[in-house]
Amino acid sequence: MDAPTPQTEPMPTITYGPPIAMLAEVTHRCPLSCPYCSNPLELTKRDGELSTEIWVDVFRQAAELGVLQMHLSGGEPASRRDLEDMITACRDHDLYSNLITSGIGLTEKRMVELKKRGLDHVQLSLQGVDAEMADLIGGYKGGYSRKMQVAEWTTALDLPLTLNAVVHEKNIDRLPEMIDLAVAMGARRLEVATVQFHGWADKNRAALMPTREQAKLCGQRVAEARERLKGVLVIDYVPADHHADYPKPCMGGWGSTGLNVVPDGRVMPCHAAHTIPHLVFDNVKDRPLADIWEHSSAFNAYRGFDWMPEPCRSCDRKTRDFGGCRCQAMALTGDAAATDPVCIKSPMHAQLQAMAQADAEGDGELTYRTMPT
Ligand code: SF4
Ligand code: SF4
Repeated sequence: MDAPTPQTEPMPTITYGPPIAMLAEVTHRCPLSCPYCSNPLELTKRDGELSTEIWVDVFRQAAELGVLQMHLSGGEPASRRDLEDMITACRDHDLYSNLITSGIGLTEKRMVELKKRGLDHVQLSLQGVDAEMADLIGGYKGGYSRKMQVAEWTTALDLPLTLNAVVHEKNIDRLPEMIDLAVAMGARRLEVATVQFHGWADKNRAALMPTREQAKLCGQRVAEARERLKGVLVIDYVPADHHADYPKPCMGGWGSTGLNVVPDGRVMPCHAAHTIPHLVFDNVKDRPLADIWEHSSAFNAYRGFDWMPEPCRSCDRKTRDFGGCRCQAMALTGDAAATDPVCIKSPMHAQLQAMAQADAEGDGELTYRTMPT
């Protein structure tokens, strides 16, 4: 890491209160094998996962810390037979529970039980707009029809439904059909997220990177649909980083709004933080969650502004984007404290754009995520 440039004016102070949301990656197991999966290449096996009792206690600790929303994710959270007990624990501690699922592993009976236990919201992933595309991308035959069933059960139970579509070179052109499908499925919200190159996605850059033109058209189509579908469907949009001039405010600033507990109990500031090799992550098996949130070295590594090098340090956008994504800076520059190369002021911006262009022109084979045994 470069030595910080001497300060010439007072740095703004950052205040952080309790986290608003927690992402509980309750398992890495998943019947699907999406090539853009952000799970790490080294997946936690079933026997390394936290027990039901520990998860239930983590949810209690999270609520006491001030967390309001619990996102249950994975892998596929329905792969855990104790998912129902986890939902009960959320309800017991007044946590708003959001099940982030591919739908595989859910039955109508299970959905009814989850609703009875207090499930508040379902977020269903959408790999494509028809069985051919969805099953190809998810690497799971029959996945699409099961997903459609789960959507029907969800809306019949009057649970709010969000669809989460990761868009990439192979499906981004079919965005208008995705939007129509979301409306037909009764979704209240659609998240259109351009693929982020973490974990397995990074192995598939050449197969998944959209072109600059595709990314631009996608943004225009989202804007048009937002206007047209006001009051019908809310559309959230994560634009293509690599074709942008400024980075996104990743996680609203490191260690400021949310935390992520992974299947073996380590606690991270974001789902890709494991890609920063020098960080040491504390485990809920060893240390209380509140203590980790406030005092762990990983959470404090990039909090605030003091760690920033130039050009971020003296940039007036730093209170808006917090210097971008630390994991992306690590992946692209080898230094997690560097300015995110997505930023036009980064000395590596031109190199990043050239790399994105080369990836977008490439047509690599898809490498599917493999499951832990
Ligand atoms: S991205 Fe695909 S493979 Fe990864 S956890 Fe989600 S559904 Fe499973
Ligand atoms: S220089 Fe840093 S703070 Fe300024 S816009 Fe770029 S990434 Fe954001």
